[in-house]
Amino acid sequence: MTSAAETLNQWLRDAHAAEEQAETMLSSMARRVEDYPEVKAGVERHLAETQRQAEQVRSCIERRGASTSAIKDTTGKIVALGQSLAGVFASDEIVKAALAAYAFEHMEVASYTILIAAAEAEGDVETASVCRVILEEEQAMADWLRQQLPSVTEAYLRRSE
Ligand code: MG
Ligand code: FE
Repeated sequence: MTSAAETLNQWLRDAHAAEEQAETMLSSMARRVEDYPEVKAGVERHLAETQRQAEQVRSCIERRGASTSAIKDTTGKIVALGQSLAGVFASDEIVKAALAAYAFEHMEVASYTILIAAAEAEGDVETASVCRVILEEEQAMADWLRQQLPSVTEAYLRRSE
């Protein structure tokens, strides 16, 4: 049986891998939204946030004395979802990319909500507090993306006419 501590370590590795994947997806999306300056600015803002999040999660793993060497080999379900969305992120169609980005942010919201509960159960106050800050950022990005959806859709339809 796996200990709760080791389970939390593995979930943190999954979250770290997901942030690295988000980095790749957001930069490819930023390159494809040149025609939508507002969206581009928001995506780049979250890209910088995402890079910080990856570092913060890595620090949690190291502080817990867990190995970060498995980070690259992780095959968590979170990563699998990211991979299924990656193609859509890279799509030329901004509407599909925005939809995928919105779904990804909610996956992150769920993931950090789970990590907070697991860290609290373990008595790891520091990890719980780091994850709470990240959760706020993911929720803010999800809310921002939802607000963009109508105007992005209208702009896309106008342009494709
Ligand atoms: Mg993130
Ligand atoms: Fe995010």
